Amino acid sequence: MSLIELSATELLQQLSRGDVSSRQVTRAFLDAIESRDGAVRAFLRVDADAVLARAEAIDERRAKGDRIGPLGGLPVAVKDVLCTQGEVTSCASKMLENFRPPYDATVIARLRSADAVILGKTNMDEFAMGGSTENSAFHPTHNPWDLQRIPGGSSGGAAAAVAAGMAPLSIGSDTGGSIRQPAGLCGVTGMKPTYGRVSRYGLIAFASSLDQIGPLARTAQDAALLLEVISGHDPLDSTSVDREVPSYSQSVTRPLENLRLGVVREHFGEGLDADVNASVREAIEVYRSLGATIEEISLPHAKYAVATYYIIAPSEASSNLARYDGVHYGHRTDQRAMMRQLEAERSALEKAGDEAALAQLDSPLVRMFRRTRAEGFGDEVKRRIMLGTYALSAGYYDAYYLKALKVRRLIRQDYDAAFEQVDFIIGPVAPKPAGKIGEFQDDPLSLYLLDVYTVSANLAGTAGISIPCGLSGAGLPIGLQLQSPPFEEERLLRAAHMYQTATDWHQRRPELQGI
Ligand code: GLN
Repeated sequence: MSLIELSATELLQQLSRGDVSSRQVTRAFLDAIESRDGAVRAFLRVDADAVLARAEAIDERRAKGDRIGPLGGLPVAVKDVLCTQGEVTSCASKMLENFRPPYDATVIARLRSADAVILGKTNMDEFAMGGSTENSAFHPTHNPWDLQRIPGGSSGGAAAAVAAGMAPLSIGSDTGGSIRQPAGLCGVTGMKPTYGRVSRYGLIAFASSLDQIGPLARTAQDAALLLEVISGHDPLDSTSVDREVPSYSQSVTRPLENLRLGVVREHFGEGLDADVNASVREAIEVYRSLGATIEEISLPHAKYAVATYYIIAPSEASSNLARYDGVHYGHRTDQRAMMRQLEAERSALEKAGDEAALAQLDSPLVRMFRRTRAEGFGDEVKRRIMLGTYALSAGYYDAYYLKALKVRRLIRQDYDAAFEQVDFIIGPVAPKPAGKIGEFQDDPLSLYLLDVYTVSANLAGTAGISIPCGLSGAGLPIGLQLQSPPFEEERLLRAAHMYQTATDWHQRRPELQGI
């Protein structure tokens, strides 16, 4: 078996036994990137020489007998939403195309001290807004199972990289499903941890009360390895929680007994694809055969989740993105050209004697803000900023934003009540398998509706994992979602692993025809 076909856990064993070097492992994934990423386009940037140098440095330390961190020289791909010191961190936006952060995100720092080899930065929807990775300002990413299709999003690059064997592990972020949904559509395992489990320091903010960083991997066992390294309290993120980090990678193989799973009545209604329905129901039967009891539950406010999310997330985004003003960092419009244009406008208005229009003319500073933002942001980001600004504006705040916060609380209460009855909620990740690239272009709402099963976990602050549970008639991956109460990641990973010992959906690989 070639190195890129092994799980991260297997690779780590080989690395620690000295059977392979980090350089060999890293080289194998770099070779896969070289041959496959021209078609998949999961990565935005890979600096192969620097990556190999880092792997070699770890090998040298190991040869000297130094203690090596828990990721032992394993390559990890990282979504381009996490700050990497001195290296471009673009958030797939023209706004940050040349932005080199002066610091590492805490998750990056933890990866480095765990002796991961950061392989490159992966593509995403601009500022993590989207569910298809088509909103990247640079290029779309293609689903390795069918290159005509989306990989999901916004962590589409991170999911496609793992699915195509270009990285054993990757890091994504999830504000409304952006880890779980692409994991589902690409046939890999992805987890959104509880809000507060992983530090958001150095994560470029989209919606701060919803954003959470998490692992993507082939298996729950591999995800456990990565989650263990990135979790934990961080004084630099006041919302990170000071709670012990369980040794997920040790406990993940221990099966759970007397598991009670809740099937949400509202999740199996209209809009659910027949293949997804069938695969999810089959997965539920697998759990039953493993000794779980299945109960029907209700999340009565689930039907408001998408609407609530699309008020709260854009509201927070409109505030967070106010910082891109052309002054602090990132893109700034060409000021000479801008001043020439402004002067031309002024003299034309003066000539015409249009006093009213002259009085309305932008000051140079305001014009600089306007042009910078008009040039730097893509359409979807602008749409979110407008939606959010509207929902927060005087006169509308109570009707939209405040109302959404109240519904958010009701959604959380639904979860609290459900978790009195069951250990986990089981159901689909997305209502249908991956759509075609371009399919959603003229209808952003159709893409928003794909978030129906994922946004509630973010609104409620709970944890969720997506694991492969089938293939559609067209051969596209289908994801199963398990959701747990807050800070139950350990049990959630164990439950996912149980399923993966009983089934082999997580071992299916795309054929990558022609590449
Ligand atoms: N698809 C959702 C959105 O567009 C979720 C994005 C995310 O989780 N970052 O907002």
